[in-house]
Amino acid sequence: MKPNYIDGAWREAASARPNINPSDTDDVIAHYAQGDAAQAEQAVAAARAAFPAWSRGGIQQRADALDRIGAELLARQRELGELLAREEGKTLPEAVAEVARAGMIFRFFAGEALRPRGECLPSVRPGIDVEIRREPVGVVAIITPWNFPIAIPAWKIAPALAYGNCVVFKPADLVPGSAWALSEIISRSGLPPGVFNLVMGPGSMVGQTFINARAVNAISFTGSVGTGRRIIAAGCERGAKVQVEMGGKNPLVVLADADLAQAVEVAVQGSYFSTGQRCTASSRLIVEKAVLPRFVEAVVARLGELRVGDARAPGTHIGPVVDEGQLRHDLDYIALGREEGATLAFGGRRLERERPGFYLEPALFVDADPGMRVAREEIFGPVACVIAADDYEHALALANDSEFGLSAGICTTSLKHAVHFKREAQAGMVMVNAATAGVDYHVPFGGSKGSSYGAREQGSYAAEFYTTVKTAYTAC
Ligand code: NAD
Repeated sequence: MKPNYIDGAWREAASARPNINPSDTDDVIAHYAQGDAAQAEQAVAAARAAFPAWSRGGIQQRADALDRIGAELLARQRELGELLAREEGKTLPEAVAEVARAGMIFRFFAGEALRPRGECLPSVRPGIDVEIRREPVGVVAIITPWNFPIAIPAWKIAPALAYGNCVVFKPADLVPGSAWALSEIISRSGLPPGVFNLVMGPGSMVGQTFINARAVNAISFTGSVGTGRRIIAAGCERGAKVQVEMGGKNPLVVLADADLAQAVEVAVQGSYFSTGQRCTASSRLIVEKAVLPRFVEAVVARLGELRVGDARAPGTHIGPVVDEGQLRHDLDYIALGREEGATLAFGGRRLERERPGFYLEPALFVDADPGMRVAREEIFGPVACVIAADDYEHALALANDSEFGLSAGICTTSLKHAVHFKREAQAGMVMVNAATAGVDYHVPFGGSKGSSYGAREQGSYAAEFYTTVKTAYTAC
């Protein structure tokens, strides 16, 4: 059993859970501890006890630890990428890139630890100085989803530690391998016991204990809308700081003046790569009528070239869906889309491969009405709907007609429409002639409307969540 890491020691749990390869369900990667409420409480207590010394321990110590973690992730990107592809099902190049990204995030925050921001100002009252400084929040609970098993933990854990907080971390049940490997690296980085703790286990038990614990000062969560909303309510009720990233139904607008070949690549890459299991994936392709038949024909031709297969096999473009439950969920939505009257222009069938796995043909719906559930609700799989737009204004209105607001894209050669879309799209991230998924690690990440709650993640904007501001007055 791969154990939990609490108060500087590896601790087994009463039960364990197998980590199964979605490309080959006969392949069990390892068994991982399933902690309970008692282990979660121990982790919170350890983090609370470690906080005073760690938060005052100085920024060099933090920077050195983060730098070591980042360097090891980068050095082992191929090996850890293999593990990530094996447990989550994204292709090997995507998985290796994700590990490299995690390494660069730690390196970025090693630098940020050495760049604390503050201000020293004169008071409006003579003879008084005012200082404004940022202080760590305390104990931060980090709860992550399965679709980015190492990058999302990295972009939460690295800033939490950089700004002097202690961490209790609960990864998603389906992908404990990458989280465990990351935690093992962190355990050797020179952090004092209790500063970082890993508790794998059910969200309803371990996650819930973190959320309810009075000693947890802040909760950073990424995952589904349902869980996210419960966490917002519970955290706010007891006055904890809460940052929640949830779902998306991201639009990609394709105007008639777009470079068609580029628009097709942007749509296919944004909708289907990583098996469409990205919160920023484009699932609504809003296409100006004048170009719609040519666009659909070209996307269908491109989808026909993509190989769905084992995540680690050379030449695979799209790996399997993460598990049986998610595959069934995707297939149910594909059936629903047909019942609602949309036309399946490509794919949508479960595929058999040499080994047993959760393989799904990428699916493209056309003639989708913007009111259909398949065009409004997040599916989180390789499924996209083409929605017809009369002109740019209509396309913008359709793009904004969503409860979500994570990422929005436009393909156009018109500067006027590109600039207008960047201003008017109701989304936290806007892309021009680029896929809605695929973002940098040194700039803010997050959405608007029903996609996100609380401060932005990543880049120097992460300080907003992981620190609190103190204003000090000195009469002299
Ligand atoms: P999920 O909400 O089921 O689980 C997320 C995490 O919460 C897991 O670690 C889970 O164990 C834990 N959890 C479950 N119940 C809990 C509870 N009662 N208390 C505390 N923790 C609990 O989501 P998922 O299926 O792992 O991830 C897929 C979802 O994540 C999709 O909806 C996707 O859009 C979203 N996502 C969003 C972003 C973003 O940045 N907006 C990024 C990636 C994924």
